[in-house]
Amino acid sequence: MPVETDLYDLLGISPDATEAQIKKAYHQKVPLLNINNPEASQKFQELQAAYETLSDPQLRHIYDVNGIDGLTGSSGMGGVDPADIFASFFGAGGGGGGMHFGFDFGPGPSRRRGKGQDTVIPHALTLEELYSGKTLKLNLEKEAVCGTCKGSGARGSAKPKECGTCDGKGWTTAQTHHGSHLAASRVACTGCHGTGQRLKEKDRCKKCKGEKTVKEKNRQEVVIEPGMTDKQRIILAGAGDEEPGTPAGDVIFVLRLTPHESFERSGNDLLTNVTITLSEALFGFSRILITHLDGRGIQVTSPPGKIIKPSDTIILRGEGMPVHKQPNNKGDLYLTFTIEMPDEEWLKTVDQKTLLSLIPPKKADLEPRPAVVSTAAFEEADIEEVRERYFPAGKDFFDRAFASQFGDSDLDWEDEDEDGDEDEGFDDGEEPECRPQ
Ligand SMILES: [Zn+2]
Ligand SMILES: [Zn+2]
Repeated sequence: MPVETDLYDLLGISPDATEAQIKKAYHQKVPLLNINNPEASQKFQELQAAYETLSDPQLRHIYDVNGIDGLTGSSGMGGVDPADIFASFFGAGGGGGGMHFGFDFGPGPSRRRGKGQDTVIPHALTLEELYSGKTLKLNLEKEAVCGTCKGSGARGSAKPKECGTCDGKGWTTAQTHHGSHLAASRVACTGCHGTGQRLKEKDRCKKCKGEKTVKEKNRQEVVIEPGMTDKQRIILAGAGDEEPGTPAGDVIFVLRLTPHESFERSGNDLLTNVTITLSEALFGFSRILITHLDGRGIQVTSPPGKIIKPSDTIILRGEGMPVHKQPNNKGDLYLTFTIEMPDEEWLKTVDQKTLLSLIPPKKADLEPRPAVVSTAAFEEADIEEVRERYFPAGKDFFDRAFASQFGDSDLDWEDEDEDGDEDEGFDDGEEPECRPQ
């Protein structure tokens, strides 16, 4: 059983729910949110946070073993604020320990873990760095057992007394807002930091001031191997915080891929777009089409007589990402083509009549002509801007969120259980499959 179940409760599932059940619960709850309700946006973020955590097997394991505590880690490591880690998961900025969620982000009242706190440190990397690999040298800070008192926190042989604030329980009760209703939850006693025991001022160890641990700086090397992925975790076992009488926690680096401006990654494959001119589309090319992630130019020659159409795709075998731990293997690189049309200035410089007679003719009117024809004005628009508009159910308005936005409850989420990562949506630049003629 997990040490706490708040995230499961939020999604209305049991702690032994399968991945498919977690996904289904999320997809069923999100469309039910009333977008006119200001609380909906917050509720959405909570659901998303719970879903992101529980749908990632490693995060779920950390949560099951250590609760929210395990995900936030302890403060002060390498200058990383635990709230920042959660900000990246939860999409919203959270200040200090008091995130606006129904669960307590502070130190747990009862530490049921068998070792010191794990420290989760997100580290942003570029796609170039994941392609070529890299060694990070980081100065970290951790809680180490105080050498002077050997972790007792006491001066000499002084003994602690029962804490008066919590009567030795280690926790007190606090009211927290959970959506619209209040919930009572246990919070660590501030008088004794949840231990239930307290030392008198004069009995405390001089070095750690009775805290039992002191901050210790150390230098860690983290090797980013070629082919590692976004969200991959690198665990430095035992490099985390120490607590007296228990093994040290781990330092867990979570790799965070910074989106690349021209390459997208899917597994070991890469996708990028190349712009060619109309002449190249018609008469072919033999040139360096792209600069790769390691700085190499990639020369490609199109076959004679081949016309490239807009959105045509080619595959460059073995030019994808290196396969992690298989130095001789690489995925493939897909190139989609954008054809740059000549501009209006160019058109003014050519004999337009001759040009028109050379290229394929304009389209004729529809046959048979519809009985009713309306005239609409020609006005330019920016579809990217429309796609960027935010809706609680997701930003890709035309691609995915339309039905949930307009309350289509017949939406069939069942299908999604089978085909994996639909949630990721269309990545920027990827074309929808259906397009008008
Ligand atoms: Zn001490
Ligand atoms: Zn207390």
